[in-house]
Amino acid sequence: MAHKVVVVGSSVAGIRTAQALTADGDADVTVTVIGEEAEWPYDRPPLSKQILAGAWDRERIALIAEADAAAAGIELRLGVAAAGLDATARRVKLADGGVVGYDTLVIATGLSARPSPWRPESGVHLLRTLADSTNLKQHLVPGSSVVVIGGGFIGAEAAAAARTAGCEVTVVDPVAVPMARVAGPVLGELLSQVHARHGVDARFGVGVGSVTGAAGDLTVTLDDGTRLRAATVVVGIGATPNVGWLADSGLTIDDGVVCDEYLAAVGAPGVYAVGDVARWPHPVLGTLVRSEHWTNATDQARCAARNITHPDARVPYRPSDYVWSDQYDWKLQLIGRPVAGGQDALVGDLAGQRPQAAVLHADAAGRVCAAAVVNWPKALLQCRRMIAEGASLDQARERLAVPPRT
Ligand SMILES: Cc1cc2nc3c(=O)[nH]c(=O)nc-3n(C[C@H](O)[C@H](O)[C@H](O)COP(=O)(O)OP(=O)(O)OC[C@H]3O[C@@H](n4cnc5c(N)ncnc54)[C@H](O)[C@@H]3O)c2cc1C
Repeated sequence: MAHKVVVVGSSVAGIRTAQALTADGDADVTVTVIGEEAEWPYDRPPLSKQILAGAWDRERIALIAEADAAAAGIELRLGVAAAGLDATARRVKLADGGVVGYDTLVIATGLSARPSPWRPESGVHLLRTLADSTNLKQHLVPGSSVVVIGGGFIGAEAAAAARTAGCEVTVVDPVAVPMARVAGPVLGELLSQVHARHGVDARFGVGVGSVTGAAGDLTVTLDDGTRLRAATVVVGIGATPNVGWLADSGLTIDDGVVCDEYLAAVGAPGVYAVGDVARWPHPVLGTLVRSEHWTNATDQARCAARNITHPDARVPYRPSDYVWSDQYDWKLQLIGRPVAGGQDALVGDLAGQRPQAAVLHADAAGRVCAAAVVNWPKALLQCRRMIAEGASLDQARERLAVPPRT
């Protein structure tokens, strides 16, 4: 009898898991993917970039071709959510009343955008799904005013797309340098300046009190009393794991599905979790973490698939911790995880319209363990190698050739 794998979640983690499970044509595995979205599986990073900018169409972001899914024998059941899990009987209950049995279950249900706490009549947009992106795009017309609440990755990318479309854009965030949360203070400040240079009005260090009105005529009132008029508001204030359907399943749910180092879910045999919903012990940080980034989702898909198909030779998950963001013509790339008690070193030149620079981060022993790089993909590759080799900060500084100013 073929080993039956059911994957719940039809985005990048789920689809890449299904592909990895079927890659070597192993006839002993059957794979069914259950996806709540009726849309053919699509990739999310372009939603705040090329799709929002109108540069790419929907076909370009398909995660798998229909013919390839059929050839691999991957069954896709789209437009139906998993509503419950009986982990003892190894059965997934579907929202349409159906039941699907499994030998191994892979949970890849990702995140939902945190809902806006501000509820005017209309005009507030979130940005997580293809429908969100195509809907928002229609409102990014030249000259219209857009307020983006949240200056993290999604907010910053939405602001860049809106500004590029010719909108008047204001970004609000209670943190003084929002991108510093991910890129560190130096590059975070630099990225704030890029938005200012493109004409974005940044209101950082102040929160939002209320959003009132309706689409086309909204008022965003800040905590300091400032009132901003907007035709459209975009709220990018984070996302939360889709774990509601796992209540009473016996799995350990704590800000995601808690897993061991093999990505096996804690609390029931035969269950794995991958992608944004998985929380697992990070080998460097030594704590449970959840990653909300694309490369982690694809890396975990490969790892979990390998562990399912090689139960006697399972491998622990080793994250590359790679993240990127595109804003205007700037590319930010992060690799590794900064640790407490470490130190930073800047390589490169921060001046110029589009500087190329890297901030290296070394652990307490002086070994490079993370780097944040702007507009310098070659340095990112070198940093990746040096982190793997355990290079010292001095070695890394020497090896990274400073690029000429542009
Ligand atoms: C706008 C945007 C831009 C991004 N840009 C970048 C970037 O530049 N770089 C980067 O590294 N990362 C980026 N990311 C993050 C990246 O897209 C995610 O890390 C990745 O999508 C995670 O994949 P996932 O499959 O784990 O989860 P998700 O993509 O969240 O997919 C989960 C899927 O499961 C489905 N689902 C949920 N509950 C159920 C249920 N009960 N039953 C069935 N199906 C269910 C959902 O409908 C969804 O289709 C971006 C994300 C967004 C939203």
